[in-house]
Amino acid sequence: MFESSRPLRLTLYVFLILAGAVLAATLAIRHAERQALVEDAARANQQLGLYATSLHTLIERYRALPVVLALDPELRSALKGPLSPEQQDALNRKLEQINGAAQSSTLELLDHTGLAIAASNWRLPSSYVGHNYSFRPYFSQTRTQGTGRFYAVGVTSGIPGYFLSSAVTDDDGRFLGAMVVKLEFPELEREWRQGSDTLLVSDARGIIFIANQPGWRYRLLQPLSDSDHAELKATRQYDKQPLTPLKFESLHRFDDNSDLARVEGPEGNADYLWESLPLTAEGWTLHLLRRPQVAFEDIRNAALAAAGSWLALVFLLLFLNQRWRLAKMRQRSREELEQLVEERTRDLRTAQDGLVQSAKLAALGQMSAALAHEINQPLTAQRMQLATLRLLLDHGRVDDAYKALKPVDDMLTRMAALTGHLKTFARKSPSGLRERLDLAAVVDQSLELLDTRLRDEQVSTVLHLTRPAWVRGDAIRLEQVLINLLRNALDAMRDKPCKRLEIRLEADEQQWRLSVIDNGTGIAEENLAKVFDPFFTTKPVGDGLGIGLAVSFAIVHESGGRLSADNHVNGAVFTLTLPIDPEANGAC
Ligand code: ADP
Repeated sequence: MFESSRPLRLTLYVFLILAGAVLAATLAIRHAERQALVEDAARANQQLGLYATSLHTLIERYRALPVVLALDPELRSALKGPLSPEQQDALNRKLEQINGAAQSSTLELLDHTGLAIAASNWRLPSSYVGHNYSFRPYFSQTRTQGTGRFYAVGVTSGIPGYFLSSAVTDDDGRFLGAMVVKLEFPELEREWRQGSDTLLVSDARGIIFIANQPGWRYRLLQPLSDSDHAELKATRQYDKQPLTPLKFESLHRFDDNSDLARVEGPEGNADYLWESLPLTAEGWTLHLLRRPQVAFEDIRNAALAAAGSWLALVFLLLFLNQRWRLAKMRQRSREELEQLVEERTRDLRTAQDGLVQSAKLAALGQMSAALAHEINQPLTAQRMQLATLRLLLDHGRVDDAYKALKPVDDMLTRMAALTGHLKTFARKSPSGLRERLDLAAVVDQSLELLDTRLRDEQVSTVLHLTRPAWVRGDAIRLEQVLINLLRNALDAMRDKPCKRLEIRLEADEQQWRLSVIDNGTGIAEENLAKVFDPFFTTKPVGDGLGIGLAVSFAIVHESGGRLSADNHVNGAVFTLTLPIDPEANGAC
């Protein structure tokens, strides 16, 4: 079950990571879009200010024109009395001339009843002359307030325009008529059309009357009340133009004058950034509608950056988690290893102690055989010597008897020494014993134990021993090492007709160097590294256990020394080094 749930879990993780990346990318796209919109809105708003200024400047340029013209005495006198056709013709031409110079759309002079008595467009079929415009709000405004302004579609020309008017009064301030200038904005609309933005101007009722794109003019931004309808009818502001509502809904409101809106425009449904700017002087509102343009690259970069950051974060966390787990695992395995090493060391120590003991027992066995041989001979000799002694005493030869006692005594002393060694050798010595001892004496004792074999095999022994050679260690164990080295040397020389054993003990810097040199078979090159391995032996089964050197090696190391094997010209050399006991100088 565990096995099958693993790939499942992995798939789930991969899915979650990818889902996170997609989510991060989506959020980033949303954010980037919103950010781009906000920036775009701010830009559009700035532009709107520029458009407003251009419109305002245009109107301002003509505001003074009717005021100045109203002061013209010729116009004033024309309004005072009945006008001859010549006078009217002169007036028409004058207005035509001024209109041309001022580059306004039309100039007209209304008398106190609202009748146009002269106009700059007198030559055209759509001439204002002879029409009455008293129904226009600017006329009544001018009569009551001195000036008037009104945007309307020309009832005569059908062309929309902004009417600015100023009262013409006599010297007593009585109202004689109104001087009117009509402004049209075709140039402005043309200029505004150059950008891709939609620019609209709406009046106080929410009726769009200037638009730089076709199909937007005369649309309603809000429903009209009945009184609005009545008033529009009376003033004929938009004359016969059908006013249709413009459907739109705000999708997001940035602030009072800034929206993201879905508009059912002339070209169909579309989303726009919709910026508005109230033009307080005229009571109008300027609108700028812009299709939101989010740069694809920006969006893609934002998405990639977000997904990348998310993945980097996830991988960093995974990496840290992995490291943490690895460290924990390492810590655990280190602890386990330490525990294992501790256990094994304990086992090995026990095994080594056992090996030391069995090696000793094995040596003891071999030695017992040698001992039996060693002791039997002197015992037989002694029995014969005792019989001789008895004979001498029987014959009263006391002096000779005394002389004959000496060899018996010697033999007994030697035998006692041998057995004494054996007793101590077999005992299991406490490990780590570090008594102060003379290494040369250890050599003596070992040689003594092997004396019989040395003599039997006619080994010539050469000794170069520096005495005393003080070291710290366990005498019995070191003796065991030495006996082992010596016995190996004897074994190696078994088939040599001329056997030579050399033992050197000399000081070398801070340590004693003890070399056991034989002229035996030597050690095969490939075996040099193996001789200290436990159970490595080249001897026939029953002769060698292969533990002697391994145990010796351990004993020497335990005493703080080193044991190494090598070959010389004709035979092997084993070198044992032990630190010189510094207290040696003070002692003896
Ligand atoms: P064993 O004597 O029971 O074989 P050891 O550990 O004492 O075990 O010796 C291991 C092996 O090292 C021997 O079998 C022998 O091959 C080699 N060896 C030891 N001493 C000598 C020596 N002086 N000359 C040649 N070979 C030796």
